Amino acid sequence: MFDWLVVGAGFAGTVIAERLASQHGAKVLVIDRRPHVAGNAYDRLDAAGVLIHQYGPHIFHTNSDAVFEYLSRFTRWWPYEHRVLARVDDQLLPIPINRTTINRLYGLSLETDAEAEAFFASQAETVEQVRTSEDVVVGTVGRELYEKFFQGYTRKQWGVDPSELDKSVTARVPTRTNTDDRYFGDKYQAMPADGFTRMFEKMLDHPNITVQLGVDFDQIRAAVPHRRLVFTGPIDEYFGYGYGRLPYRSLTFRHVTLDKEWHQPVAVVNYPQTEQFTRVTEYKHLTGQVHSKTSLTYEYPSEEGDPYYPIPREENQAIFRRYQALARSHPDVHFIGRLATYRYYNMDQVVGQALAAFRRIDEEREAERSG
Ligand code: FAD
Ligand code: UDP
Repeated sequence: MFDWLVVGAGFAGTVIAERLASQHGAKVLVIDRRPHVAGNAYDRLDAAGVLIHQYGPHIFHTNSDAVFEYLSRFTRWWPYEHRVLARVDDQLLPIPINRTTINRLYGLSLETDAEAEAFFASQAETVEQVRTSEDVVVGTVGRELYEKFFQGYTRKQWGVDPSELDKSVTARVPTRTNTDDRYFGDKYQAMPADGFTRMFEKMLDHPNITVQLGVDFDQIRAAVPHRRLVFTGPIDEYFGYGYGRLPYRSLTFRHVTLDKEWHQPVAVVNYPQTEQFTRVTEYKHLTGQVHSKTSLTYEYPSEEGDPYYPIPREENQAIFRRYQALARSHPDVHFIGRLATYRYYNMDQVVGQALAAFRRIDEEREAERSG
């Protein structure tokens, strides 16, 4: 008999399992339908011995002291600040759009933040109410930069025009008037020194935790006795798609190894104008690995396949809210993570969400004990 069954060995499932086992002494069974732990953050050595991310590039960044301190118990870090170039009009230009981007694209020599701000202001369209992913960008940098950097990429990535996506999608990428070309501005930016998978193995390495891989929840739902459940898979799947399917965007990853040391100048190059793929990642830039060969991943967005991205649109949120209401009538099941809460969350946000879920469970336990 297990105290807890945790479905999914990604960040959500692993963090909650670790907390329940180490803080409550609970006996926890963690299952995952995939043959490995770490969920979408899974990394592994490929045939050439290069460390790659099986499900596309994962770069850790957070502003949360608590999240960073928590994960630091299970890994050392390799400091890494992510930089991305976009292939636009046959140039490789820095994205997020910053002063260097526009100077190089337009042959300008803007020298101050104020000059760049004035340039963006001269391009920006007036948007009464910023609602969509188009509004965010045209309202900040204008239509031309929007079309060059955002519209094509977003149509490829999401299968819909930015005007049909919530503003939160393109708002993930800021615009800067300075020359800071880092992709993220967070306080902590680093990669687990021995990789994500190793960090997960350490989190799950506890005598109270049993991990079973290659096991689907449906296979063992009735067979494994457990008192309580944490579900980190898609919430619509858990409820048998009773209110219809929640749309997710999928990706196909093409991994290649080249017999040369380097392929591109930075870890990620985005392709907003050309090509079927959205971006190409060269891992050694972000892992710091030294190797005579180099491995890359090309990402091709698709409608079919594993659910990677919840699609932020109001009509999808409306379906999710119905499942969420249903979930409230199942108090012994905790829904955590990107798929179970249908949120376009980064890794650190999922860790924060799992730590918060544990605190609630802990408080309930204390309340039961004292009352
Ligand atoms: P997941 O990692 O998806 O884990 C859920 C697990 O549950 C999966 O392993 C799945 O197999 C398992 N599961 C589901 N249903 C069942 C079932 N019925 N039975 C058994 N097992 C089941 N975040 C960042 O912070 N930085 C980045 O650079 C970044 N890059 C990303 C790039 C890509 C291409 C993608 C797709 C995501 C990226 N993310 C990034 C987001 C990051 O992957 C997620 O925030 C994080 O992995 C979510 O963890 P999770 O545990 O909620 O979900
Ligand atoms: N985006 C874009 N062009 C870019 C980078 C991002 O249009 O060069 C848009 C696109 O819609 C993308 C979103 O901004 O899905 C968020 O970008 P991010 O890099 O955060 O995507 P993720 O790493 O989560 O796939």
